[in-house]
Amino acid sequence: MKPLRLVFLGTAGYYPTEERRTSSIMLPEFGIVLDAGGGFFRVPNYLQTQKLHILFSHCHLDHVAGVNYLFGFGERIQEVNFYGPSPIIKTVNTLMGEQFFPSPPIERPFSTKTFQFSQKQGEFSLVCGGSKVEISFQKFDHPSQKVIGWRLVLEGQSIFYLLDKNVFHNDPALSFAHGADLLIHECVFEAENKEEAIKTGHSYSLGVGEFAKKAMVGELVLTHLTMESFQSPEKILKEVKTVFPRTLLAYDKMARYF
Ligand SMILES: [Zn+2]
Ligand SMILES: [Zn+2]
Repeated sequence: MKPLRLVFLGTAGYYPTEERRTSSIMLPEFGIVLDAGGGFFRVPNYLQTQKLHILFSHCHLDHVAGVNYLFGFGERIQEVNFYGPSPIIKTVNTLMGEQFFPSPPIERPFSTKTFQFSQKQGEFSLVCGGSKVEISFQKFDHPSQKVIGWRLVLEGQSIFYLLDKNVFHNDPALSFAHGADLLIHECVFEAENKEEAIKTGHSYSLGVGEFAKKAMVGELVLTHLTMESFQSPEKILKEVKTVFPRTLLAYDKMARYF
């Protein structure tokens, strides 16, 4: 059995702060990365495989902007596979092109493959670092585009990853998240800013707590945070815990074993 280690490479939403880079999470032993925001630059510090599988939630820049850091990772990576709907893959290819990177190597030190899908939901499996990983995905609404929720089953444990989405009373993501051992969910707003959350396609503390409770997940980790004056992560954590006590606040470089 491999250790199930999840490293939060970047835990900020929208903009980086002194303490937080934008969204990226890695399972080093499997070579899996969820989103490639600013925190993606930390990948080489944790690299355990020669192949990377990058699963994107959507193409807002706080989730993709770090992708061309791949050019700086040297020859330790031999293959990179990108997964997402075609608008995301198109954005990734653009960000790795000449207009966004001053001098991309004439020959990339790694090969790339893209796996694009157009359907609303689906599933596939991968062999990552010698272990089979079952992956399923579903699209949800987010302003200007859809956002992908990813569910991963590895070594008998399941993770559900869902960022940049409202939470609703009868949330369409509930059945998909149901029973996950670990739920990684964004939380941008305190309870008093519920209306703002709905308006911007993001979530608020009590809604996220209710979601975790109804989905009967094992543990909840909050990410996509910001230290801007309108948000207090500690207050958000306190509010979520009133509904779902098994909740943690992610921070950059936090490793979680499960
Ligand atoms: Zn975001
Ligand atoms: Zn977004």
